Amino acid sequence: MRFNPKADISGGHVTDVRGGGGGGRMGSLPIGGITGGGIGTTIVVIIIFIITQYASGGSGGSSGPEETTDRYEQCLSGEDANKSADCARKAVELSLEGYWAKVLPQQTGKQLQPTQIKTFTGGVSTSCGDASADVGPFYCPTDQTIYLDTTFFEEVLEGQLGGKGGDFVEPYVLAHEFGHHIQNLLGTMGRVRTQQGPTSDSVRLELQADCYAGMWTRGATGTTDSKGVKIFASIDEADITEALDAAKTVGDDRIQKQGGTDVNKEQWTHGSSEQRMRWFTTGYNATSIEQCDTFATDNL
Ligand SMILES: [Zn+2]
Repeated sequence: MRFNPKADISGGHVTDVRGGGGGGRMGSLPIGGITGGGIGTTIVVIIIFIITQYASGGSGGSSGPEETTDRYEQCLSGEDANKSADCARKAVELSLEGYWAKVLPQQTGKQLQPTQIKTFTGGVSTSCGDASADVGPFYCPTDQTIYLDTTFFEEVLEGQLGGKGGDFVEPYVLAHEFGHHIQNLLGTMGRVRTQQGPTSDSVRLELQADCYAGMWTRGATGTTDSKGVKIFASIDEADITEALDAAKTVGDDRIQKQGGTDVNKEQWTHGSSEQRMRWFTTGYNATSIEQCDTFATDNL
């Protein structure tokens, strides 16, 4: 992955916050889909899960007002994004926004509403409840925001779960979470009734978010900044391989095995490694968002 050095990445919707409370281990954050295993409950979650069924968990426990830091102040160009993971995050968000602002109206007639990516350290208060650093990336539908403690990638995804890593892992994760935002806008989240099991609505929702991540990955090199300058210089085979490895790493069966327990499909919330890789690939090859309709297929 290389960004176009000339791209303007000064805009967008990525902020870093401090002091918004949270502190406690997940506090009241309602988390679906902890598949247990010996891996210590919290990490499992992590990636990529969403909180669907709780309209508002309340954000009690705040220890003070949230402040925005200057973490992204130096991120102005694609050149900066090539040198810094923080700036790369900004560039990816801009690309996701640009991609879906175009594709969503074209294919569904709906306009893209803004989402935000908020990074935090330690803890954060959200409309879905408080989250601590233990919680990996997640999307909160009530405040339409993606939350991310960036230590997750090294400590959990590579460290505890044994993923291979690489610079395209985070774009995949962000694209998956952005996919949940798209699902929120399309009302798909409201269709989720069953939370666990190999053909549950939860698994269908998660695999669809992987499919949407694949769609963006294919279209990303065509996205541009506000002046029409391309954001990416290249996304290559190695990047796709990294995304697929990340999808594999967060498969429910793999997490269960990694945790030292037997594979139990009845506890699945996100789908197996094979399914996650396959739906990402389906999205990558899709010509229409309808090909990501995981709710309409018997072949999950
Ligand atoms: Zn998810």
